[in-house]
Amino acid sequence: MRVVVIGAGLGGLGVALRLQGAGHEVTVVDRRERPGGRAYQLLDRGFTWDMGPSLLTMPWVLEETFAAGGLDLHREVTMRQLEPLYRIRWAEDDRHLDFGSDRERLREEIARFSSADAARLDDFLAAVQPIYEEGILAAGRQPFLLARDFVGLLPTMLRLGAALPLHRFVARYFQHPRVREAFSFHSLFIGGDPFRVPAIYAALVYLQIVDGGWYAEGGTYSIVEAMARPLDVRCGAVVERIERSGDRRGGGGEVRAVILADGERIPADVVVSNADVLSTHELLGRRAPVRSLTPTMSCYLLFLGTDRTFPELRHHTLMLGRDYRETIAEVTRGRAVPRRLSTYVHTPSRTEPAMAPPAGDSIYVLLPVPNLRAPIDWGTEAGPLRDRLVSDYERSYGLEGLADSIVAEHEMTPEDFRSELGAVDGNAFAVEPTLHQSAYFRQPNRDRSVEGLYYVGGGTHPGAGVPGVLLGAEVTADLIERDRARAPLAA
Ligand SMILES: Cc1cc2nc3c(=O)[nH]c(=O)nc-3n(C[C@H](O)[C@H](O)[C@H](O)COP(=O)(O)OP(=O)(O)OC[C@H]3O[C@@H](n4cnc5c(N)ncnc54)[C@H](O)[C@@H]3O)c2cc1C
Repeated sequence: MRVVVIGAGLGGLGVALRLQGAGHEVTVVDRRERPGGRAYQLLDRGFTWDMGPSLLTMPWVLEETFAAGGLDLHREVTMRQLEPLYRIRWAEDDRHLDFGSDRERLREEIARFSSADAARLDDFLAAVQPIYEEGILAAGRQPFLLARDFVGLLPTMLRLGAALPLHRFVARYFQHPRVREAFSFHSLFIGGDPFRVPAIYAALVYLQIVDGGWYAEGGTYSIVEAMARPLDVRCGAVVERIERSGDRRGGGGEVRAVILADGERIPADVVVSNADVLSTHELLGRRAPVRSLTPTMSCYLLFLGTDRTFPELRHHTLMLGRDYRETIAEVTRGRAVPRRLSTYVHTPSRTEPAMAPPAGDSIYVLLPVPNLRAPIDWGTEAGPLRDRLVSDYERSYGLEGLADSIVAEHEMTPEDFRSELGAVDGNAFAVEPTLHQSAYFRQPNRDRSVEGLYYVGGGTHPGAGVPGVLLGAEVTADLIERDRARAPLAA
C-alpha cells in the first residue's frame, strides 16, 4: 500500500513510522526545509533553540511510537528526567513554586502558600486519576467517528466532574489563588483557556506527576531527527491538491495522489494529512470546511543567546504576570497585543551547557498572544513587545543585565506561524480544545466522505501536545489498518 503523509510534524512522522513499521511504502512531504513542523530547531552562533515543544511528558508514548517503527527510543535519544519540572514565579511577589513529580516535595512547596491546600493534594490527584485513565488513556486511543461514541463517554466525564471548567474544578480542591494558578495553567500550552476548557485537562497536571517531565539531549529536535532518519521525508515540497477519483468539488471520491506546487504527482492509495485541518478543504478543492472549527490563540516567540548565564532561570520557568484571569482573557480573546505579560521560558543550557557557547545561555521565551483574527500589525508591534519583555525580565524577575548580554536573537510572530507552517490565522496549537470541539466534534481521524483520506496532528482527535499527536498517530494508523483489513487494496 502506498501512503503519502502531508506534513512532517510529530504527528505526521509518528503515523509514518507506524505505517512503515507495518510494512507499507510511505513517503512524507513537507513544505519546509526540514522536518519537525512546530517542533522545529534554530541554530545560530553556537546557540541551539527548540522552537516549539520543550517539555516532554508521557515518555512511554514516545517509546511506543519508536518501537512501532522498529526503533528503540533510548538508543536513539538520551532522555533525562527533570526534577523539579519547572519553577513558577509571580511578578507580584517574590515567592515561587517548584513543581515536580516528587509528591512530598510538591506538598511542601504548596504548604509555603497554604497548608490547607497542601493537605488536599492527594484528594485532587485521586479525583484526577480516573479522568486521566478514562479521558486520556482510554478515550485518547480510540477514534470518535460516531456521535454515539462521544455520547457514551459523557456520563462518565460528567460524573467525574471532567466537564466542569478546569479552573473551577481545581478551585474545588485548592483555595490559594497561586496554587489554583499552578494547577490550572497547563491547558494554555495546548491552546486552551483554563476558565473555559473542560477539566479533562486537569489530567495534564496529573500525568506530569505520575510520569514526570523529560528532556531529550540536544533538545526535542533530537527526537524529530531520530524519527525522520529511517523515513523517506521530502522537504521543500508543498502539497497543493489531493487528487481524487472523479475529483469533484464537493465530497466523496477516493484518493489517488497528491499534487505538489511544482506539478509533480505522487500516487497514493492512502493520504494522511498532517497539514492544518482548518485548511484541508482547500487541498480538496472545496470552498469552505464541512464544519467550521475555531483555532487557538497564537504565540510570540523570542530566542535569545546571551554571553553570560542567568541562574535565576531554571530549565523551565513560568513567569506569571499580574491578574491571571485577565491575562488569559487578553491572550485568548483579546484584540490587541497583551498589556500583561505572562511567559514561559526555556533555558536548556541549564541542563545541557552545550546548547549555548561556553558561559552563555540559550533562552526561549513563549508569550501567548491573540491569533491573526485580531487586528494586530506584527510588523510594527513585535519590536516594542520584545523590548517590554526584556525590560520586564530585568525589572520584575531580577534578570539584570539581560539586554546587554544578548549576542544572538530571533523571533517568531503569528505571521510566521501562518507563512511557515500554513497555520490558519497563525494559530499555535491547532483547534481550540473546548468541549464542543473535542472527540466526535473535532476533525475525525478518517475523512467522513473521501475514501483513503485520514488526518493526524493537533487539529484531530485527541489533540495537540507531543503525546496528543503521537496518540493520534496511533489512532489513525490503527484505523488505516482496520479499514484495509476490511477492504484490501491491490498491492
Ligand atoms: C511554541 C509552542 C510550544 C509548545 N510546547 C509544547 C511542549 O512543551 N510540550 C508539548 O507536549 N507540546 C508542546 N507544543 C505543542 C506541540 O508542539 C504540537 O502540538 C505538535 O508538535 C504539533 O504536531 P502536528 O503533528 O500537529 O504537526 P505540526 O507541527 O503542525 O506540523 C505540520 C507540518 O505540516 C506541514 N504542512 C502544512 N501544510 C502543508 C502542505 N500543504 N504541504 C506540505 N506540508 C505542509 C508544515 O510545514 C508542518 O511541518 C507546543 C507548541 C508550540 C507552537
